[in-house]
Formats: sequence, C-alpha cells, structure tokens
Amino acid sequence: MMNKATCTSLSTVKEKNRDEALRGLVERLWSRVTPYRRKMEEAGMTAEDVKGLDDLASLPFTTKEDLRENYPLGLLACARRDVVRVHASSGTTGKPTVVAYTERDIATWSDMMAHRLAVAGVTDEDVFQVILGYGLFTGALGFHWGAERLGSMVVPAGGGFTERQLLLMEDLATTVFTSTPSYALHLAEVIAASDLADRLSLRLGIFGAEAWTEEMRCRIEEGLGIVALDSYGLSEVIGPGVAMECPERSGLHFDPGHFLIEIVDPETGEVLPEGVPGEVVITTLTKEALPVIRYRTRDLSRLLGADCPCGCGEPRLERIKGRCDDMLIIRGVNVFPSQIEIALSRVEGLALHYQLQVVEEGTMKELKVVCETEFPLSSEAVASLARKAVKSIQTVTTIRSEVELLPPGTLERNGGKALRVLRGPRA
Ligand SMILES: [Zn+2]
Repeated sequence: MMNKATCTSLSTVKEKNRDEALRGLVERLWSRVTPYRRKMEEAGMTAEDVKGLDDLASLPFTTKEDLRENYPLGLLACARRDVVRVHASSGTTGKPTVVAYTERDIATWSDMMAHRLAVAGVTDEDVFQVILGYGLFTGALGFHWGAERLGSMVVPAGGGFTERQLLLMEDLATTVFTSTPSYALHLAEVIAASDLADRLSLRLGIFGAEAWTEEMRCRIEEGLGIVALDSYGLSEVIGPGVAMECPERSGLHFDPGHFLIEIVDPETGEVLPEGVPGEVVITTLTKEALPVIRYRTRDLSRLLGADCPCGCGEPRLERIKGRCDDMLIIRGVNVFPSQIEIALSRVEGLALHYQLQVVEEGTMKELKVVCETEFPLSSEAVASLARKAVKSIQTVTTIRSEVELLPPGTLERNGGKALRVLRGPRA
C-alpha cells in the first residue's frame, strides 16, 4: 500500500543523473534501432555528440509518421522476447500505431500512474471506477494498474452502459472515476434527471483523452458535485500518466525523471522558453521497449514552473489547448474547437454536446456547428438560442458560422472520444 507521503515512482531518474540517462538512451537507440541511427546520421550526428540535456535540442524529432513507417515494431529497442504487452492507438488513416512494453515498462508505468494519482489526491481508501474501454487503447489499463498499485479498490467497469455504471457507483460506493470529459457530462445529465444524486459517494473525477475547457470543467463539477481534474498522456509516450493536475488545478504535474518535455514552435521546430505556448515534445528517459526521442505530440501547451501551491515540487504543463492538427482555417481565420466550446458555454440553455462540421463550398471552407439544447424547446425558442450561439461564436472567433440546434440526447455518446470535427463537402 502506498499513500501520498510514500508514493514515489521507484524507477524515476534523479536530477543529477538525467544527463547520463539521456546519453544512455541515445547510445541504445543508435546501436539498436536503425531508423533512429539513420536519422541522426542524416543530421550529421553520432551518439558521442550527445553529452547531456544541453544537447537535447540538436537531436532529430520523432513523429507519428516514423511510428507508422516502422509498423508494427520496427522501432523496438529491446529483444522481441522481452516484450510482455502491446497497445495500439487507432489510426485515423489506415494502420494503427503499435506500442510495446517490457515487464519493467509496465512496472514503471504503474508506479508513475500511482504517483500521479496520489498527487491528485487519490488514496487507498478510494473506490476507483474505470469508465474507459479496456483493450488496445492504453487509457483503461493505465488507470487500472496505477490505482491498483496505489491500493484503491478498482472497479474495471469499461466504457458505456450508463445504467450499469450508475448501479456500480451506487452499490460499491465509488468515490473516484475516470472517463472522457464528454461522458462525465453525460453522466451528470442522467444523474440530474434521476433521484440518484443523494445516494452516490463521488468526490473526484479524472478526465483525459479529449481536450476540454474550463467551462466544461465547471459544468462537470457542478453537475456531479465533484472535483474534476485533467489528465494527459499518449500511447506513443507511454499512455495516461504522463501528466496530471493536483487539486490546485493550476497545471498538470509531470516527473522530469521520466519525461523531458520541451515546447517548440510547431512551424519551425525551434525550442521555446518556459511560459511561451507551442507544441509539446517529449523524450522518455526510462522506457525500455519503445523509448522515444523528441516525440512531436502535435498537442499545444506551455511549460509552467514548479511553484505550485500544492508543494509537490514537480514542474507543470498547462492544460492542453488543442492539437495543431485540430486547428480549422475558416475563411482564412484560425479557429480551435476549444474556442467554439467556450462560445457555446456562454449561451444559457445549450448543452456542451456538439460537433463541428467544416463544409467545403467550392474553395471556401464554412463552419457549421451542431449542438444540443439542454432541454426540449419550442421551435421559436430554438431559433432564438441559435441566433445567440451564432453571435457568441462570432464574438470569440470573429467568424460567422451556421448553427443547428438539436434536442437533448441526439448526438452519440459512446464513452469513447467524442467526435468533434467532421470535414467534407456539403451533404
Ligand atoms: Zn500542484
């Protein structure tokens, strides 16, 4: 059993040893993984050129395309027999990205996640319900092993089946759960429409897999009467557990003994100073099977210092603002889905279940926003609300969009990642 005081990741690299750890990582990839060696040679480097952290920025980036091109296990840095598990992330185009773990990687991941959960305030007294799909996706097993390692009572509920989720929550007195933020919002609505609220013991929710806004956090916290914390991770780096908020909710803490996190200009790749927003780039110091050097996450954030009021002393990453790839260019204006979410949250009567459709009209791209209302409404009320939504979106983004409002419960809620952006010609 571990508690907040004793729960530290056993395999983390102490600060004074990080230079050595990076050197070791580069040497290992240079000698064992041909695509890494080739990239370094193309950059005119050898493994000896990397003495420590000061040389990090001279190393070539690793991208999602590198993982795809070497599908399934071409970037493996250990013997194939030492792999004890694989996961995969869904490929939006074609084949998935396969990631691999040694026995030690699984232990590191569990320790790391247990530590993150402890900093978030989870203890061995908690009943921890995992409302994420078990399978190739890293989310569910990452939380599962971490919470179990911490000594919580884990309820591996899996995704979906709302009635069963609520039954388990009530009967097992669940105190903490993890799901996508959009599913948490759905749960809040179902609970509000029932007489369940008084019989539940929920106090904390930890949400990830989708970029979500402070406005969404307020709705979840108010709707469920819990504290809602943000979690960040990606399978290419390890899975969930890379960074997580503490109860101060002022940035996501990460362990620099596991991850070297840089922020770079998404266009030029130039490293940006602390506090300046850009693309998150991660190097793994402790992974064995599939370490990555300078992995381009495409996620947008900035580094915050370690001076969090919680006193845990670890540096922080700001909440992810969106993905470089999610940026929409509508009539020449850059628009992020999170801006639309903020605009919709300002209109009373709208639920934050929405979808953005980029409609191509010849060479022009127009934005259509489909959003649910909180309650069933008359057609006049819907029309008035839609006008308010158009105005709010224009205020936040400067662009004029088309808004279609749907009755509550129309858009799909499957417990997986919400499908936020659809692209294509007008149907
Ligand atoms: Zn903190």
